[in-house]
Amino acid sequence: MSTTPRGERLIIALIGKRNAGKSSLINALVGQDIAIVSEVPGTTTDPVDKHYELLPLGPVTFYDTAGVDDTGELGEMRVKSTRKILYRADIVLFVSDNLAFNEAELSMLQRIKEMDIPALMIFNKTDLRQPDPSSVEYCELHQIKHVAVSAKDRTAILEAKNELIKLAPKYLTENRILVGDLIKPKAMVILVAPIDSAAPKGRLILPQVQVLRDLLDHDACVLTVKETELKDALAALKTPPDLVITDSQAIEQVNRETPDGIALTTFSILFARYKGELDTLLTGIRRLDELKDGDRVLIAEACSHHVQKDDIGRNKLPRWIKEFTKKDLQFEVFAGHDFPEDLEKFAVAIHCGGCMINPMEMNRRIIEAQRRGVPITNYGLTISKVQGVLDRVIKPLYPKE
Ligand code: SF4
Repeated sequence: MSTTPRGERLIIALIGKRNAGKSSLINALVGQDIAIVSEVPGTTTDPVDKHYELLPLGPVTFYDTAGVDDTGELGEMRVKSTRKILYRADIVLFVSDNLAFNEAELSMLQRIKEMDIPALMIFNKTDLRQPDPSSVEYCELHQIKHVAVSAKDRTAILEAKNELIKLAPKYLTENRILVGDLIKPKAMVILVAPIDSAAPKGRLILPQVQVLRDLLDHDACVLTVKETELKDALAALKTPPDLVITDSQAIEQVNRETPDGIALTTFSILFARYKGELDTLLTGIRRLDELKDGDRVLIAEACSHHVQKDDIGRNKLPRWIKEFTKKDLQFEVFAGHDFPEDLEKFAVAIHCGGCMINPMEMNRRIIEAQRRGVPITNYGLTISKVQGVLDRVIKPLYPKE
């Protein structure tokens, strides 16, 4: 079983009409029969995810979706599910059966274009017929790269794979740094990792492990403690640490116990920068100062995790935000892959760290919020803001300002 975090997998959605050969194409691309293939149109109903190692990209998830031309009440629901998959997709493989595009295909292609998702047109079934000239013309006009293949005979599959690889987003190919550029080699860094009831049993959470690994890659000396041992760790060091990185939930205590001259930041802020979201989320956080009585606040979580007692999204954040703003606010929580359709009714959106979704999906949510005029920020920045420590925790990332 792959141990790659879900947030680091490339998500490839296969979109097209019923019986265009989406499942066969997955099998041809990976060289295995991992998707059920049937001549009966509509065999794939809800989107099905298949994990695979696609070299040289590494781990990918293929979403085999229902046909865009599915009909009836159930069919419409399936098409809706397919549309939702687009929010998660890094790349779309649009599979055509080589007939002229119909209305359903054109509508979906338009949506993909609006969402600015890199797409490759696969004209499948060359064993039966060549691509319809009008469809080829459409692709040329809209600058959609296209390849003609036969998934059944497995012809031109390598060409399709090479074109697919070219569409991979930069974040998968760039060598990104989480924290190493903020420190000098041999720097002493303290990581504060609370082990409370929300912490997974027997292990640290992924962001903590990733930061630790990045620090080790950059030759730092790292001391990891719970917030209850921070004072002891600071007292035990001969010289003050160069940097303290804490979970946002312990920021109030860590800020209080870490002397002013020591640089302090949070895992959340490091990840927001790593994913290229920090500036936008910092703009969104300003909205907290402008909230009025009656405003609605969206709390968005990217997965439906087990809800804890005094849960961060459902209890703590609403409480802290109310205390901070002294306003009578209404909070709504959305968990999972759904992003509310009536986003405009919210005065601000506060999103979780999104550790279970890929950066592209998170980015798409941010763009969607911006497009609809809703300022968006995240849990970590909000906690730092309401605790009055935001300026301090972003300073290590903007040292000259
Ligand atoms: S940060 Fe978001 S995606 Fe990660 S576990 Fe929490 S709710 Fe789920």
